[in-house]
Amino acid sequence: MEGLKKRLLAEIQGDVRFDEPLKRYTTYRIGGPADILVEAAAEEDVVATLLAAREFGVPVYVMGCGSNLLISDAGVRGVVLRLGHALGRIAVAGETVRAQAGASLPKLAKIAADHGLSGLEWAGGVPGTVGGAVAMNAGAHGGETSRVLVKAELVSREGRRFSAGPEEMRYSYRRSGLIRESRPVVVAAEFRLTRDDPQAVTARMKEFAARRRRTQPLGMPSSGSVFKNPPGDYAGRLIEAAGLKGTRIGGAEISTVHGNFIVNRGDARAEDVKSLIDLARNRVRDRFGIELELEVELVGWDGE
Ligand SMILES: Cc1cc2nc3c(=O)[nH]c(=O)nc-3n(C[C@H](O)[C@H](O)[C@H](O)COP(=O)(O)OP(=O)(O)OC[C@H]3O[C@@H](n4cnc5c(N)ncnc54)[C@H](O)[C@@H]3O)c2cc1C
Repeated sequence: MEGLKKRLLAEIQGDVRFDEPLKRYTTYRIGGPADILVEAAAEEDVVATLLAAREFGVPVYVMGCGSNLLISDAGVRGVVLRLGHALGRIAVAGETVRAQAGASLPKLAKIAADHGLSGLEWAGGVPGTVGGAVAMNAGAHGGETSRVLVKAELVSREGRRFSAGPEEMRYSYRRSGLIRESRPVVVAAEFRLTRDDPQAVTARMKEFAARRRRTQPLGMPSSGSVFKNPPGDYAGRLIEAAGLKGTRIGGAEISTVHGNFIVNRGDARAEDVKSLIDLARNRVRDRFGIELELEVELVGWDGE
């Protein structure tokens, strides 16, 4: 590990930190330390990190805003490579928008709206990065990343750059087959949008935002929806019908506002959230015979 640390300090343009608590980088405000945290400030940093870690046989976990992650209290061994605002350039050319992976999704949606470009209105309230959205096919209000993506610019785990269109990404509900299988890193993405009246696009975004404010506990740290909606139903409805809204373990609570949100009341540990996840899953299985599948990703847990 010492050799890798020296190499990263010498080669990376962005920040390199050791034993860095990851709670600073997740919307849950939860997560133990990463042995090494690399904040990419250039696309070359991604290639350099992957190559160096590979040479030293150290695993690399890639993250964006940490808005879909439950990182364990023990943290993550090896390298966490974070693509955040230091890699956040957005460029509009006609109806095409190119954004680096660390660009904020709400910022991208706002810029598109200001340019009178429609197709990303749903993204205004999804607090992740472009890389995270492309990796997991983020979507809301009937819209989805896969519908507007032209190509993802990627770096393979061997450090090779390549690009993939939506078919090659093999998208389904909150999932890309390509990312799941070979774990390339998204460094940028290009989207094709359609021309519309800027005021109409902004009005749609505002309506979606108001809907979220009415139905989601946005004032408290969370990771959004904990479970995927099962076919033909809603995870939140099932958890509420199982009588679990408002249930607390330690500092975590199944939101009183939305059954599919678990919120951090201030001092929650990852273990508290995980216990509520297990409780909701077991109770919904027992009551309704439905197996809830996680939407939030568990990182740094045994047997993950
Ligand atoms: C209040 C709230 C509301 C939310 N609402 C929605 C919603 O409506 N719809 C929705 O889809 N999601 C929603 N989310 C979840 C989350 O915002 C999205 O899933 C978002 O796309 C995750 O992006 P991120 O940058 O935070 O990724 P992270 O959480 O950091 O990572 C998510 C996954 O993507 C991978 N990843 C991240 N960056 C890259 C990269 N550059 N290259 C390769 N892989 C990468 C990670 O390894 C991980 O597997 C919500 C979250 C919150 C807190």
